[in-house]
Order: sequence, then structure tokens, then C-alpha cells
Amino acid sequence: MDRESTRAEELDRDGDLPFEPYRVKVVERIHRVPRQQRRRLLAEAEYNVFKIPSSAIYIDLLTDSGTSAMSDRQWAAMMTGDEAYAQSRSWDDFERTIREITGYRHVIPCHQGRAAENLLFGTLLDETHVVPNNIHFDTTRANVEFRGAVALDCVCDEGLDPDLEAPFKGDMSLVKLEQAFEKYGQRIPLVMLTITNNSGGGQPVSLANVRAVREVCLARGVPLYLDCARFAENAWFIKRREDGQRDRSIAEIAREFFGYADGCTMSAKKDALVNIGGFVALNDEKIAECLAARLIIQEGFPTYGGLAGRDLAAVAEGLREVLDEEYLTHRIEQVARLGARLDEHGVPYLRPAGGHAIYLDAKRMLPHIPPNLFPGVSFAAALYLEAGIRACEIGSLMFEHADPDTGETVAPEMELVRLAIPRRVYSHTQLDYVADSCARVRDLGERLQGLEIVWQPMALRHFLCRLAPHGGGELIEP
Ligand SMILES: *Cc1c(COP(=O)(O)O)cnc(C)c1O
Repeated sequence: MDRESTRAEELDRDGDLPFEPYRVKVVERIHRVPRQQRRRLLAEAEYNVFKIPSSAIYIDLLTDSGTSAMSDRQWAAMMTGDEAYAQSRSWDDFERTIREITGYRHVIPCHQGRAAENLLFGTLLDETHVVPNNIHFDTTRANVEFRGAVALDCVCDEGLDPDLEAPFKGDMSLVKLEQAFEKYGQRIPLVMLTITNNSGGGQPVSLANVRAVREVCLARGVPLYLDCARFAENAWFIKRREDGQRDRSIAEIAREFFGYADGCTMSAKKDALVNIGGFVALNDEKIAECLAARLIIQEGFPTYGGLAGRDLAAVAEGLREVLDEEYLTHRIEQVARLGARLDEHGVPYLRPAGGHAIYLDAKRMLPHIPPNLFPGVSFAAALYLEAGIRACEIGSLMFEHADPDTGETVAPEMELVRLAIPRRVYSHTQLDYVADSCARVRDLGERLQGLEIVWQPMALRHFLCRLAPHGGGELIEP
């Protein structure tokens, strides 16, 4: 990391971690239900934490998606949202803000990121196609595969080494990308880059990498799209870690990387600081027309796309707020601080800390549980049982897939447990409790059992599958 000094520089200049740049105006009561009850609920949920009622969760780190606390300004915008079916004032604000931030001409609203993916891939992909990405997020992979196409991950090798400290582990490997073009040629209709790289540890992509990927795409005559759910967090990392970027604003940096691409899909549930929303933005008029036509069938009229006017208004305000560097510094430092506390306990996680989450290394903590018994899922289940905390596996349950050439089942490189931090929601004290609880679960060691799948649906199985402890006993052996 530029590299020694980066970590120190990311701390507040006075040597303190920055305070929350906000104060609390509304609170929501949370409860820690008794252990006995957590045990029953976990068994009833068949060890799938997606099925545990939220009222029985003490600290919910399942996702940072749609879980942000909105600001007073966003709530005010919601109250004055314009609910006209067509051409509402809120749509104007939404479209103008996205055009300003991205520089793209056409904006297609939709209710969340996967709807944006479905629209774009439904228009551009067929079963002969191959889509390179640094690492496809789960819904992105599913939407590519649903068209019968192949989702190809091309992240740099550094991005696959959980222990390596490097500034831009989300970068795409240009070698792997060139190899993909050599091998698949015309079968590649577009390239995607996920910023930050959610499935690879929330690691950022450098401006230099976006520019280089752009060059490859130009040479091949193929468009580049950004999966930009966390574009502002990515821009913050560029500002702090990339040479020559220190004096630029978050907005300037973002505008530069958007400029290297032809369009983007966004889940507004992340960096737009809202509970629902998304969009596709792009320059190509023909494609935009196709998307709009499809949108009317799937989501709604092109000036609301499955959202209420007030939702559009909250997205527009959230997109302006997320560019605030002080907010971003606090946000990303909060995640780094959780990492530092885990370091004190010697709990291993993917390094360095990501922008929105810590990814615990379950493979390392539970070497006795093989990938086909899902060490990450087992850890997440135990974290709920022990502490009432909900986290999400990012490993074999989520990402095991068939090799495109041989058809054999391939496990992902890493078995991770993601502690995703909702924006503007939890305090440092609450996150200290999380770190301490993770250490307690790690200390269970071989008492913790793997899990077997009892039933699974045809796609995105981690959301709905049912599991049971391997060997028919307890999740945690006495
Ligand atoms: C969340 C996410 C998506 C999907 O968005 P939804 O709003 O959950 O449908 C796509 N890509 C990335 C990188 C994401 O983090």
C-alpha cells in the first residue's frame, strides 16, 4: 500500500478515529433474545440465517443492502415526493443527479440492482455469450447464467490471496482478460467491472485499472459496463491510495471512472443510502430504447421504473450525500476499526478490510470442515447462536458452480463469512461486541460441525436452502 503510510493516513490527522459526522434523531429498539430461543429459532430456520425473523436478531450484518439509515433530508424529500405517473418532479431530480454524477445520457430507473442486470443482460446476452467481470456478484452471475451465458471471473491474483495487503485487490487481471478474448473472441459482447468488488472482499478497483480495461475493450470493440453499487466508496479508496488523486473530490474521481465506461448498473440500496432502488445508465441510445421498452413490461413506465416518486427523490438526495468525503471517511474507518479489533483477537479475515464489510476467513478458522460441508455457513449459524449476530456466507454455498469447459463442480477459492456494515446504523460499541463474539465462535474450534444441504432450489440456493448439522448431532458439540 503506497504504501506503508496509507493506513496511518487513513486515520484522522489528529490521531483519532473520526466521530460520526451526524447525530441520532430517531432510534429503533433492538433486543437480544435468550440463547435457548436463539437455538430453537436457528433449528426452525434449518440453519439458514436468511430465515430467522429480524425481531430475533440483535445485530444484523447480513447485508449493507437497503439497510442504511436515511437522513433528515432524505425523509424530507420523501414527504415532498411527486407521485405523478409520468415525468414527475422526483424523476427529474433522479435523472439529473445521475446524469451529473455519471455523465451518461440515458437513465433507466428500476426497483433494485438485479432488475437493472436483468434488463441489461436480457437485452444484450444470449446463450452463446461469455461475460468477463473482476468477480460477478451473486445476482449478476445468476442473471448472466439465466440467459444461458457464461459468467467469467478475471480478478487479479492478488485479489484471491486473503492474506496479502495490497491497495487495489479488486483490479481485473489484464492477462486473464486478454486470455478470455483469445479464447472466446466474438462470444464476448461486453465486459463488466464491479466497484468495489463485493464478492472479492469489498476491495477497490484503481482508476489505472479501469483505464487499462477500457483500452482492452476499445481494441476489441466491446463496451465496458460498471457494476457501481459502491462507486463512492471505491472513489474514496482511489483518493486515499492512488498516486496523484489526493487533491481531487470524490465526485471528480467518480466522473473519471464513469467516463472510461459506456454505462453502469447500480443497486441504489448501497451507495445511494436508500432502502430500495436502482438504475441502468448508459450512452448508447439504441440500447437505451430497448431497455425502456423492456422496462415497461417488467417494472413500469420509464420515469418511475418500479419505484414510487418518493423513492426516486430519496435516491437523488442519497446520491448527493454519499459524495461527502467526511461521511465516507467515517464509514470506511468504521469497517477498518472492526478489523483492528479482530486483529487484537487474532481472528483471520480477508486483508485489507473492505469498504463495506469484513470478510472472515472461515477456511482458516475451521480447517476441519471441508468446502462441501460449508465452513462459512456453519460459522454464521454459530455466530447467531452464540451472540444473536447475523452474517452471511460468501463461499461454497453461494458460489459453487460448474466449470464451463468440463462441467465439473468447482468450489470458490475462498470460504468467507461477510460482516456487512449497514451505513449510518451501528455504533463503535456495537461493533466491538461483534468482534469479541467472532473470537468466541473461532474458539469453539473442532466442536463446531459442518452442515449438509437437506433441500435446495434451482438457483441462488443460499437464500432458501435447508441445512442440518453433519453427522446428525448438534451444530456445536459439547
Ligand atoms: C447488491 C448488489 C447487486 C444487486 O443489487 P440488488 O439491489 O440487491 O438487487 C449487484 N451487484 C453488486 C456488486 C451488489 O453489491
